[in-house]
Amino acid sequence: MKTLTFKGYCPSCQLSINSVLMRYNVANELECPSCNLRIYEDGKKLALIHHNRGKNEFALKLTPTFNQGLYYTEADLLYDTYSNGSLLTNKEDLADYIAEIHPKTSRNLLHVLVDSYIAAFYQDKSLEYYYLISDLVGIDISQTMFNTEHKTSIYLFQYLHFVIECYDTNDFEGLENFPMNSSILDIYEQEISNYKEVLEQDIFLQKVALQNLIVTVIKNIYMPTEVTK
Ligand SMILES: [Zn+2]
Repeated sequence: MKTLTFKGYCPSCQLSINSVLMRYNVANELECPSCNLRIYEDGKKLALIHHNRGKNEFALKLTPTFNQGLYYTEADLLYDTYSNGSLLTNKEDLADYIAEIHPKTSRNLLHVLVDSYIAAFYQDKSLEYYYLISDLVGIDISQTMFNTEHKTSIYLFQYLHFVIECYDTNDFEGLENFPMNSSILDIYEQEISNYKEVLEQDIFLQKVALQNLIVTVIKNIYMPTEVTK
């Protein structure tokens, strides 16, 4: 029988016949954007499958290509970052191991807030769910209820909704069509321009960068104590 190896695609999603390319998360591990399974790859031989799932926070970094497949290995039950020494070489063992992996972990609430806003106001889904999350984080991005002492807030608020529209329609190119003042330009440089080269090559990472941009703008509007400029 052919030995199973890791070549960059999520082994859990592959079992249900979905090819999902794994991505670097902010902790520099590979994580599946669909089921959040995490893998540590040593770059040489082994791909360690963790028991704990990731938090769906991705880094703006391209996934490497694995010319040589890496061998799957189990994580230790107590010390999730270490291998227990067992290899997973066939589909049955892999499926049994993956069935034991912990369910999904919680996501960043600001990301959930944005997604629930888009669902409610762009896709006619539940308003109730949006307001539930909005209450939970204490921010309502449909309202201009922010600190009025912060002069750029109205304009930033318009910018926020412009970026949300770009995010919803996957319009990364259109991002540059908003007339940016200096504070918006600062944010844009920090979240987008700095990663331009990588972003031009990868649509998934464009989406991640747009999400980061939205979260930074929300923080600038609704949490003025965190504003540095
Ligand atoms: Zn997956």
